Amino acid sequence: DPIDGAVLEVTDLSKSFGGNQALRSASLRAEPGRVTALIGPNGSGKTTMLNMICGFYTADAGTIAIGGTEVQRFSSHRVAREGVARTFQTPNIPEHVTVLEAVASGRYMTDRSSMLSAILRLPGYRRTARNDVAEAERVLESVGMSHLRDEVATSLPLGMRRMLEVARAVVAQPRVLLLDEIASGMDEDELVRLATLIRALRDAGATVLLVEHNFRLVLSLADTIIVLAQGEVIAQGPPAEIERHPRVLSEYLGI
Ligand code: ADP
Repeated sequence: DPIDGAVLEVTDLSKSFGGNQALRSASLRAEPGRVTALIGPNGSGKTTMLNMICGFYTADAGTIAIGGTEVQRFSSHRVAREGVARTFQTPNIPEHVTVLEAVASGRYMTDRSSMLSAILRLPGYRRTARNDVAEAERVLESVGMSHLRDEVATSLPLGMRRMLEVARAVVAQPRVLLLDEIASGMDEDELVRLATLIRALRDAGATVLLVEHNFRLVLSLADTIIVLAQGEVIAQGPPAEIERHPRVLSEYLGI
């Protein structure tokens, strides 16, 4: 299904933790139907940027707009309702559910009213639930995890839990998807499937913002790369251009 992706526009965003300035007037723009990668050394503010976009922290200054709506004062639940889903460095997978149930329930990551109706078993619940399961099966198939559908979700190895978390987010059909270091712990096969899944979501029209250390994955997936250093955006552009940036060469390629 096509996704009504939303432009994500961060303008002059600043955030300090005590005396430590994590973001210094940072601005970025991520477009629907594009993968935008956020890269930079450890401590440069990448995770802080994601946490601010999804409403976990409040800004000291600056604005965050999603589809033209300013969200920088919204709670994380309100931001989720704008259609924003995210993954975490430590996968956030519900306990005591199967792989299939974990993926199917991902639909409610951005839709709290449906979650409530599902819980309350209001009319329509059964039909919705059947659709959710069919969609979850399709996504599991596409990442080669169908055979694991009845396993306990939290019992999977880390790489697969990361894949599962991305699959949950994909089922939610988010307008904006924020991905935080999803590739670590994955083998080559898993990386290929991961990239395929993210491309499919992008091609459906979602806005994807990817924080990632794996520079090869960034180069293969990103339409635009944004480089953060010490809380500032120091470069922004297509991979072919960013690859030649001196700070990127030294940080990522050791040249
Ligand atoms: P990155 O994701 O690029 O590694 P982070 O956004 O995690 O960078 O961190 C940027 C800076 O902000 C670091 O100096 C980090 O210690 C600090 N920081 C991030 N989150 C917090 C927090 N909750 N409390 C205090 N300091 C934080």
